[in-house]
Amino acid sequence: MTSKTALVLHGGAGTLKPGDLSRDELAAITLDLNRALDAGQAVLRVGGPALEAVEASVEVLEDSPWFNAGNGAVFNAEGGHELDAALMEAHTLRAGAVAGLTTVKNPIRLARAVLEHSGHVLLAGPGAEKFADTRPEIERVRTDYFSTPARRAQLEAARGHEAQHGVGAYFGTVGAVALDARGHLAAATSTGGLSNKRFGRIGDSPLIGAGTYANEDVGVSCTGSGEFYIRAAVAHDLCARVRYRGDSLEQAANELTHRVIPGLGGEGGLIALDREGNVALPFNTSSMHRAWLKPDGARGVAIFRDDASE
Ligand code: ASP
Repeated sequence: MTSKTALVLHGGAGTLKPGDLSRDELAAITLDLNRALDAGQAVLRVGGPALEAVEASVEVLEDSPWFNAGNGAVFNAEGGHELDAALMEAHTLRAGAVAGLTTVKNPIRLARAVLEHSGHVLLAGPGAEKFADTRPEIERVRTDYFSTPARRAQLEAARGHEAQHGVGAYFGTVGAVALDARGHLAAATSTGGLSNKRFGRIGDSPLIGAGTYANEDVGVSCTGSGEFYIRAAVAHDLCARVRYRGDSLEQAANELTHRVIPGLGGEGGLIALDREGNVALPFNTSSMHRAWLKPDGARGVAIFRDDASE
């Protein structure tokens, strides 16, 4: 066992600028990002697996109304919610994912159940809900549990001024990547998708290799306009650049975030960790909620571009 653990989180790329959040909002968001770090750290500190750490952190963010996952998820164009999530364990390449959920309180927990118990990687819609019926650990809610006034206002705004589906001013997906004391990596992502998305739309988050991936070298969770992350297979491409081309984590993460995605017309960011505990948290939007706990114990939370030192 090494003791070099690390954990990085995101609460979504977005278009927030300093001054857009009140002091109370900033404090509440920071508190919940810190609570999510604590939940993952509690697992890692006692030698627990990275897979469990990322699940624990993401559950805290799903339960928080400040993020677009679980409670606080965005609305689709029909005024409902469809939730997507995935997680992946690097050293076994085991993965579990769910898409289009409407009654599962913590989608990441169902993704874990898919990984452990279904014999499949990705379950969607009514089939995923039916699988949830068989799992006693999965808590169910009425779909309005996910709704918040702020997200409804976003839907109204999106309906008001755009013809295209899926263009929200603020994303807010959540994700986590952890390195455990055995040197194993895991990554997880959970989201309500894009505000005003078409019914049935599935984004990059639950697609292994697009929004979520982990191999023995790198773990990654993406956030942003998912269609572009799917087309560029960003999460897997990042791992491949490091593994096959020998790029540094920073080089590969920056190239994808600042050249490949904008080159296609997309925007967003990602969080990534390599097996040495190096951290990359690039984004090409004005904000990305993020938090980190580095192997040397350095800990931080940031939202805007010029926030804090990473
Ligand atoms: N990538 C997510 C999606 O397209 C949205 C986000 O990151 O906020 O579903």
